[in-house]
Amino acid sequence: MKLFNTLTQSLQEFKPANDTVTIYVCGVTPYDTTHLGHAFTYITFDTLIRYLEYKGHSVKYVQNVTDIDDDVLRKSRELGMKWDELGNREIERFLGEMDSLNWRRPDVYARATDEIERIIQVNQGLIERGLAYVSEGCVFYEVKKDAEFGKLAQAVGLNDYQSMLTIANERGNFPDDKRKRDPLDFVLWQAQAPGEPAWESPWGPGRPGWHIECSSMSMHYLGQQVDIHGGGADLVFPHHTCEIAQSEHYSGKAPFVRNWMHVGMVYQEGEKMSKSLGNLTLVRNLLKEYSANAIRLVLQSHHYRYQWECFPEELKIAAETDKLFTRVREMVGPEEHGEDSMLHNRFIAAMENDLNTPEATLLLKHAAQQALEENNSNLGSEVLRLAKVLGLTV
Ligand SMILES: [Zn+2]
Repeated sequence: MKLFNTLTQSLQEFKPANDTVTIYVCGVTPYDTTHLGHAFTYITFDTLIRYLEYKGHSVKYVQNVTDIDDDVLRKSRELGMKWDELGNREIERFLGEMDSLNWRRPDVYARATDEIERIIQVNQGLIERGLAYVSEGCVFYEVKKDAEFGKLAQAVGLNDYQSMLTIANERGNFPDDKRKRDPLDFVLWQAQAPGEPAWESPWGPGRPGWHIECSSMSMHYLGQQVDIHGGGADLVFPHHTCEIAQSEHYSGKAPFVRNWMHVGMVYQEGEKMSKSLGNLTLVRNLLKEYSANAIRLVLQSHHYRYQWECFPEELKIAAETDKLFTRVREMVGPEEHGEDSMLHNRFIAAMENDLNTPEATLLLKHAAQQALEENNSNLGSEVLRLAKVLGLTV
């Protein structure tokens, strides 16, 4: 199977290091509702994992949840809720909505607040190696001490200090924090602010920075090097760039990740779908009108690497395709029959080519139409078998 690696910007033959494929996907911050952009990311990895399992691999899949951060605290103050109650509520909603989309849950769903002890160890390791420093109860990663910093950022055109700094500023990396030696330094441990929850550490009470939780969890649950690490394309910089720096210097092993996979953003009305812009298509609203199959088919009809704009017409077309599968099931009956190796081979070829689900879904749609026209239950059976590989309920 070939997968595109963001770091090398090329299609690479995918070879897991061991029998079990290790996959880490950056998860949500639980303070608001799940939108179609989230679903695109998590259904992409769901489809990949189902396909790898179909091919006979065993997979260990870890996803984190950033259950403490500025957004969680701000939103909980706005709602007059405790931060952990808000987190618990939103985690349950997220998992419930993704379950409704028939995702395969991660084997480990890890909370940042359960990782504190190990995060502190990673911080200590980075301080010992001279790559991090303590300042007024905070720990910062010192970017200028790290000659390799920015490897992944370069892959998306951020080639130098200044271009990284510009994007870091735009993304709220607090460049003017007086406690830092340099504006690009990023926080590994954040000193407690008045009224905020805190955990004990060698540097005083505080809470972990965001990037460090993923380095710590990935190394803890999956080992110092992983086969696949992914998330939305907006995580390439700074989040994943910082993760590489932290993990490789802590473990002394490179590459931290063999295949970096990033999923394109979903747009609506010409803008990236985001909480801050408020232009969201919410999964829970879609589920009132459309089947999980229809929603999955819309997501899978877009290639994961590219951004796309969501139009309601696509959902209607996908709902029609879903009906075709229902009719094929009625024709075939509960028992499946013979095979169709031509369809099978074409489907596999599409999936092997960087998870080309747009082609795979189109093949199944056309084959379903053909099977119905010809009353061909062998072809129909093959359609149903392969639809299940895509996580469709048929
Ligand atoms: Zn992450």
